Amino acid sequence: MQKITIAIDGYSSCGKSTLAKALAQRLHYNYIDTGAMYRAVTLYALQNNLIDDANTLNTQALILELLNIEVEFYFNQHTKTSETILNGKNIDNEIRTMRVNDNVSKVSAIKEVRDKMVALQRQMGKKKAVVLDGRDIGTHVFPKAELKLFMIADPEVRAKRRQDEFSSKGQYYSLAEVEMSLLKRDMADISREESPLTQADDAIILDNSDLSREDQLEYVVKLINDMQVMV
Ligand code: C5P
Repeated sequence: MQKITIAIDGYSSCGKSTLAKALAQRLHYNYIDTGAMYRAVTLYALQNNLIDDANTLNTQALILELLNIEVEFYFNQHTKTSETILNGKNIDNEIRTMRVNDNVSKVSAIKEVRDKMVALQRQMGKKKAVVLDGRDIGTHVFPKAELKLFMIADPEVRAKRRQDEFSSKGQYYSLAEVEMSLLKRDMADISREESPLTQADDAIILDNSDLSREDQLEYVVKLINDMQVMV
């Protein structure tokens, strides 16, 4: 079967990474969680006091620090999962906090940050056989991706999913708090100047508000199989 590039974009907590991971596993493709890369840079900024207690970011200092930030993925053969590594350390738990959520959109809006991350993403995905999820994959990172999906889901459904994810890690927030945080993030991602979140003209919309994980996976696998007949 021909190896392709799969770009999955959409709003926060629409289940992009769940689908991307499942697809990568099914097709034996690499998975690149581009959101984790922006989260890693945000964590670095928090750990190095480039973001203060009032959540004000020192943009110029972060731009200067970019040379010292190395983000990569490591495929753990034991757990069969891809781990996010920041300067040699696994940071998968630390990047999934409300503090990171509340700051990541201002970090990801910085051109210099995006240039560095996009260059890495293109390098990692250049051999195809890859699934990437994010906000600008189909529009900017890989505009020629053979399959582009744009995922949407009801805000209440998304908030509930994110709330469950938080509580499974011992972090407890009200539904309203979680919904507010993700809608604020969506707003920032849609309205920024540098490659804002937008649907590519040739993307297929996937509303998974009422779809199970299995159903959405089978739907996309079928799309890919149908496509392979056409190419
Ligand atoms: O996908 P996730 O929720 O982990 O993404 C975190 C944040 O990273 C997004 O809210 C967005 O600000 C940024 N992002 C981005 N471009 C991408 C992926 C994520 O700007 N391709």
